[in-house]
Amino acid sequence: MARSQMTSMERVMAVCNHEKPDRVPFIIASRAFGLKYAGARFSQAYQDPDLYIRSQLKLIKDFGLDSAWDIWCTPAVDEALGAKMDIPEDDPPWIAEPCVHGPDDLDKLRRVDPWKDGRMPYMLDLVARLKKAVGPDMPVTAWASPPFRTACMIRGNTELYMDIFDNPGFVKDLLEITTENCTAYGKALVEAGADIIAISNPVANTDCISLDHFKEFAHPYSKRMFADMKAAGAKAINFHTCGRWDDRFDLCCENVDIIHCDRVDIGSFTARYGDRIVAMGNVKAVATMLQGSQEQVRREALACLEAAGSSNRYILSADCEVPRDTSPANMRALADALAQYNARAHVQA
Ligand SMILES: [Zn+2]
Repeated sequence: MARSQMTSMERVMAVCNHEKPDRVPFIIASRAFGLKYAGARFSQAYQDPDLYIRSQLKLIKDFGLDSAWDIWCTPAVDEALGAKMDIPEDDPPWIAEPCVHGPDDLDKLRRVDPWKDGRMPYMLDLVARLKKAVGPDMPVTAWASPPFRTACMIRGNTELYMDIFDNPGFVKDLLEITTENCTAYGKALVEAGADIIAISNPVANTDCISLDHFKEFAHPYSKRMFADMKAAGAKAINFHTCGRWDDRFDLCCENVDIIHCDRVDIGSFTARYGDRIVAMGNVKAVATMLQGSQEQVRREALACLEAAGSSNRYILSADCEVPRDTSPANMRALADALAQYNARAHVQA
């Protein structure tokens, strides 16, 4: 029987380890919403890590979340390898300019040191401070780029997709380099205090590359990286499948603990893959969390919970990062729906 009051760490690990949690865990990718909710801007967070940490602590306290989250999707490895990163005043960072213009540039890519190069030391310091602030009972989730995504960022998406046809050997050489560097950073995140490593790979979904190319150029490198991070002590790998992944979910389950899913029916998804992974999702981040009413949030969250909550292999979340301008009232509606479901489930148990 589940303990009546688990810590967040125990609750999240329970669903990862096929055990019954005291209630359904609740995790959202929260960097942008959290910053605005705390009255801060992205650019400020890059100057003052404590500001970011305070925003995460406030979110956890106010909404009962079960994980803190680092500054998700900051392409620190790509930048350290030479790509140009922009940080707009109040929007997430992005790669503005790739640095690999052809096979000759491979020699210029050196092994980066996560503890010394570019913005990686800042990110590692932030994760260490976050872990210290939340303590051992609250998981810290930190984001790492998978090798295929970093290859796309430093080469340019269109160029890399063309290279797959024109010069596959070059792509594989590039992927060896990105695998080494992405893995080194992922392991450093674990060393800094990250419990869960979040991965997202929107450039490798069904709309971007074929299943055959996914099998040859994306999946094996990610799989190797995930295994290395688990061996380094990561408690879980959380893979966000942004976009359509229907033809490749079987592969996505390999070496992964949680799939943070997007466009799937959460009930049938959990039934089909729940023996291999924990499903996390999938209240619509934009159509419902950002644009919907509180009643829509409540209805959609309860539908997810009714469909997947009793599997013990489910985490309530939005289907992507919760947008910055989501109203706190909608976030409150999401948390309240979970409380309502848990109270009912408790009575039935
Ligand atoms: Zn997404």
